[in-house]
Amino acid sequence: MANLKLSHIYKVYDNGHKAVNDFSIDIADREFIVFVGPSGCGKSTTLRMIAGLETITAGDLLIGDTRVNDMEPKDRDIAMVFQSYALYPHMTVYENMAFGLRNRKMPEKEIKERVLKAAKILDIEDYLDRKPKAMSGGQRQRVALGRALVRDPKVFLLDEPLSNLDAKLRAAMRTEITALHKSLNTTFIYVTHDQVEAMTMGTRIVVMKLGYVQQIDTPMNLYNEPYNKFVAGFIGTPQMNFFDVTLKREQDDVNVLFPNGDKVTVPYENVSKIHNHYLNGDVPVTFGIRPEHIKLNKEGRGLKFVVTNVEHLGSDSIVYGKLGDHLGEFTMKDEGKLIVVKVNEAKGVEVGDVVYAEPDPEKVHFFDAETEVTLMNKIPPYNTLEAEVDGDGMTVLGTKVALPDAFKRAIGAADRFELIIPPHAIVEGNDFELKVARIEKVDNDRLAYLENGDSYLFALVNETVKEGDTYRFSFENEKLNLNVEGKEALKAVDDEVSLMGTFFRKEIKEGHDRVLHFFYKIGDYTLETSPEQGYKINSIDGDNCYKYTYRYAINRDAVRIAEEGEAGLEGRVVDYCDYGNIRFAKVSADGQEFLIKVDPAFALDKVRVAMDSKDVSVYSTRIDMKIC
Ligand code: ADP
Repeated sequence: MANLKLSHIYKVYDNGHKAVNDFSIDIADREFIVFVGPSGCGKSTTLRMIAGLETITAGDLLIGDTRVNDMEPKDRDIAMVFQSYALYPHMTVYENMAFGLRNRKMPEKEIKERVLKAAKILDIEDYLDRKPKAMSGGQRQRVALGRALVRDPKVFLLDEPLSNLDAKLRAAMRTEITALHKSLNTTFIYVTHDQVEAMTMGTRIVVMKLGYVQQIDTPMNLYNEPYNKFVAGFIGTPQMNFFDVTLKREQDDVNVLFPNGDKVTVPYENVSKIHNHYLNGDVPVTFGIRPEHIKLNKEGRGLKFVVTNVEHLGSDSIVYGKLGDHLGEFTMKDEGKLIVVKVNEAKGVEVGDVVYAEPDPEKVHFFDAETEVTLMNKIPPYNTLEAEVDGDGMTVLGTKVALPDAFKRAIGAADRFELIIPPHAIVEGNDFELKVARIEKVDNDRLAYLENGDSYLFALVNETVKEGDTYRFSFENEKLNLNVEGKEALKAVDDEVSLMGTFFRKEIKEGHDRVLHFFYKIGDYTLETSPEQGYKINSIDGDNCYKYTYRYAINRDAVRIAEEGEAGLEGRVVDYCDYGNIRFAKVSADGQEFLIKVDPAFALDKVRVAMDSKDVSVYSTRIDMKIC
């Protein structure tokens, strides 16, 4: 039994191919995690790195509390089951299962106990004397499972274990493996390209594409709240329908407008997390609706289409069609006009009929046409508000508040501008009185819908904030972006200071020994780091690491003015950014500029800036990758 942690894991193969990028997940003890995605997306590579069959280029792999990146596979207490079974043909089932244990010099008595116990669980007790070739595919797969089972590992890894079996056997083995997981109480990680296997077996699923994690979630959350169009299309059969549309809000409704003039109406309340920017009828949006969330009618409600095929599957029927009222010649351009509907019964629906598709307004999905990311994020990424310059202040939400100096300088002579406010930048304060219309729990956060005319502002609030009550809020000004006439005028101060620098090592005599020490170097400032970090950088770039430039990212709260006598990066203060409640000095050092938080009274010209190496993350500039 064990929990696993993958932290910023990367795999770059020797030929330079980046197969896995920045893969992070915390896997709890006894979870059944499935990695799913199309062929080549990096599932097996990730699994093999966990097993120790493939080196980890960067990142940390922890089993329990131990970092196991450099641990031999046999010492990781992990058992792997392969698609190919990998049984020894000349050995009996018993010998195959006993083989690994004999290699470990386990006493024969205990081996026998373990093999018999596993054979019983897997129902292969009667086959122990057979050779693999005298067994069916399903039985061989059980022997392969048995060989893993006898080792009583902390973690089971399964790489497409069912893909050599026929459909019927696969379904049966799915159930058996799920039952095995329940009875063993062990962590399982299972790789498959089959979304049905993923959905039926996983407690959580990692959807991957081209080496990147797309979403990690429970099967139901993936189905109901896909993060992007790829996940939406990958999970569920038949596939979700996608259409190019625009959205136009009319009071309490949002009209979904199709290029052919058809329209579907959805209550605004169902889609209130979509940013207003998308609701003016002029921004391209992708509309997604699952085949099982559409009803058919002949009375003209919804999307008109011609039926091109009907499949009766017994329990339900699949109706295929093409938008519009005539078939014409089929061309590839029809993609985007084709529709699939799943109904209980397609009585009276014939090929050539003109019918109407009515999407369930509770089950609609919308994606940005360009980025393909959902417009209905569980936590909307940002709010926008108009601000009007009013003498020495600004009027926002009908309230006049101070105009921070940093804003004043960014907007120049403009008399109005737009504030872009992430939900975490709205905090309880003194400025704006807003009523909490609703509170929704999103994972560990509480998302508040704050009433703002006929739409909402979204904020993250703590337990003391109650639905229906009115509170005063303020903005953390340094976390906002400002636009003037649609153009970015000021960027939020991000959480990290980025500095470019180099890396070196030095042998230092300690008593009779010469010990290697490692240092980050920014300008003339050197900062000692641990041998562990040093070896991580060296393992990625070899001895070239002493020639390359790295990006050092330091948590902004950890970048400070050096104490008397403490070493630091020498720099000059070239400017100040005053946000009212927070003030930053802009420091120029080593030809680089960055902001550092200072007291209101701070007024030095020359500074030394210090940091702790434990707050520093190192990024490769050669391959875009976090090293440590
Ligand atoms: P999946 O299991 O999702 O099908 P893999 O993890 O096997 O994908 O492969 C991910 C990518 O890495 C693919 O593009 C594959 O071609 C590439 N790849 C796999 N093994 C190697 C290797 N040894 N050397 C170079 N590229 C590899």
